[in-house]
Amino acid sequence: MTKKLRPGSLCIHSGWQPKNGEPIELPIVQSTTFKYDNTEEMAMLFDLKKEGYFYTRLQNPTNDAVAAKIAALEGGVGAVLTSSGQAANFYAVFNICEAGSHIVASSEIYGGTYNLFGVTLRKLGIECTFVNPEATEEEIQQAFRPNTRALFGETISNPGCRVLDIEKFARLAHSNGVPLIVDNTFATPVNCRPFEWGADIVTHSTTKYMDGHATQVGGCVVDSGNFAWDDHADKYQGLCMPDESYHGLTYTKSFGRMAYTTKLVAQLMRDLGSIAAPQNSFLLNLGLETLALRMRQHCANAQKVAEFLEADDRVAWVRYPGLPTDTNHALAGKYLPYGSCGVMAFGLKGDRNTAVRFMDSLEMINIVTHVADIRTCVLHPASHTHRQLSDEQLREAGVAPDLIRLSVGIEDVDDILDDIRQALDKI
Ligand SMILES: *Cc1c(COP(=O)(O)O)cnc(C)c1O
Repeated sequence: MTKKLRPGSLCIHSGWQPKNGEPIELPIVQSTTFKYDNTEEMAMLFDLKKEGYFYTRLQNPTNDAVAAKIAALEGGVGAVLTSSGQAANFYAVFNICEAGSHIVASSEIYGGTYNLFGVTLRKLGIECTFVNPEATEEEIQQAFRPNTRALFGETISNPGCRVLDIEKFARLAHSNGVPLIVDNTFATPVNCRPFEWGADIVTHSTTKYMDGHATQVGGCVVDSGNFAWDDHADKYQGLCMPDESYHGLTYTKSFGRMAYTTKLVAQLMRDLGSIAAPQNSFLLNLGLETLALRMRQHCANAQKVAEFLEADDRVAWVRYPGLPTDTNHALAGKYLPYGSCGVMAFGLKGDRNTAVRFMDSLEMINIVTHVADIRTCVLHPASHTHRQLSDEQLREAGVAPDLIRLSVGIEDVDDILDDIRQALDKI
């Protein structure tokens, strides 16, 4: 039944589907382990020959219901919740990479992901080449190598607010025989479903809009089930050759389109263990129930705020894909026809301190590291999230030193505008 529903209804009715007499709201299964009547039954679970629960590090009914909801929203065959968005991006890549592998990533990505790919993966022997996502296909092609295993980008980049040309990236990935991984955190599946444009794997920081209320840190990896791993078996031996740590089982042979998801749970979760806590998954599910409604309000408010900022002569520049003057407006029209998100970036005329004076003068709007939830908030990436990056890396990541990231919430838009107006008056 849920297959035919639209995103706003999937937010409510997919995932946990109560049977006769069962609770209408998702129960929290607060248990590390699950009981069996005999040895043989549990042995079958360990051998992945039967589906069932035995230990929450691997699977938990609350987590699975929420993962199923996100899979339904994205149109994927399977999804796995992780303890954070960072863990989701790490697992998405590490599931198909090992020492000696290489990935290509858009340089316009979240600072944490930039560090993960550029610094931490390198320590594990996985190299990353960053590319300007707006470069031509010929230019980006130069970054691919024989050992490249994935291409990565963000639907709407954090904090630069650039829209990824997903079809272009999918073409590049597929002509090089690798999957496209898209971090869809800011757009959410309500506004964009990257699988419909050729992406193979989608990741999320569910900490942001999906939760929406700043109650839990979480992540998710979703697989479209579409990438033909066996056609590139030499590259993806972990999926296409027997897994010695699982009695010689071959994921693509035993699980078909669920191979990637099964390996991620059976191997990475088993060994690295970045699971979501069932309590957090319950909170995430509550957030997901109103995701479609909230995204509409975020986008409507942000559009008005962006237009206000653009018209104010104390503002040097505004980057919001919903503005007709934005260089990504056409891409947004294609990939995000119902709206992008509530996040925008802008700069004030003056120096770095002008940004600081503006932010310190805000009253209702909060200064927080967080982004993409119900409360309007601001951040100055150069002095906060991106402070580990050099000036050159800042520019590469699309972060100007004067960039203020404004995450427009769902308050009454006139109160948001009033607050911005009075703070501008004080600079
Ligand atoms: C926040 C964020 C992450 C990291 O997620 P956490 O839940 O904070 O670990 C990854 N990608 C994007 C686009 C983000 O905004």
